[in-house]
Amino acid sequence: MQKIIVSVSFGKDSLAMLLKIIETKMFQIDEAVFYNTGMEFKAIYEIRDRVKIILAENNIKYTELKPNKSFLYTMLKKPVNHRNGTKSNGYQWCGGRCRWGTTEKLKVLDKYCKDDIQLVGIACDEPKRLSRINKIKNKIAPLVSLKMTEKDCLEYCYNKGFYWEENGIRLYDILDRVSCWCCANKNLKELSNYRKYLPEYWDNLKFLQTKISRPFKKKYTIFDLEEKFKEQV
Ligand code: SF4
Repeated sequence: MQKIIVSVSFGKDSLAMLLKIIETKMFQIDEAVFYNTGMEFKAIYEIRDRVKIILAENNIKYTELKPNKSFLYTMLKKPVNHRNGTKSNGYQWCGGRCRWGTTEKLKVLDKYCKDDIQLVGIACDEPKRLSRINKIKNKIAPLVSLKMTEKDCLEYCYNKGFYWEENGIRLYDILDRVSCWCCANKNLKELSNYRKYLPEYWDNLKFLQTKISRPFKKKYTIFDLEEKFKEQV
């Protein structure tokens, strides 16, 4: 029989979807699946551990999936032959046009879920992402029928006592998305906030940049950005 699987990243939207479905019983969930890149924020892992208790109380199976090779291996070491004939060690930064981590995530999740129904946490005010999943027959975005926007999801999670706190800061106060901490999709405002409020992640980015030749953001390496942000103080 086709199972109902909730795909949860423990960010605001998928967490709101999961908790709301448990609350309203709009679906009988068989399983919750988390794809753990290994590069999530500490706050995400803390929320995962709290939610695992809620899942167990509701007799919902919890499954954690991982990349086939570690994220850091693929980023820094995997031998890569590029179309233009050049070679590199690793795909380097993930994000922008080179979202190799997302490609693998979708592959691993789809392979695991096969023809089961996947509930995905896309808010009702994300038309671009919704148009992509609307074309896939076994993926459903319950936040649409729940009429929950991204803002609603965050408020709902806060009301349930989930704050994504690190260093006394709520991550959603300083970041637009709480995705992998090394995500090259982070914008300059978010990166400046890393440096200011999350220095341990900023140091991690600097360490990665010492191993990666490609600049993190267009022409800027993390070290260039550090200088740029210093000038802005
Ligand atoms: S969140 Fe960013 S770094 Fe992580 S897999 Fe997606 S695109 Fe890659």
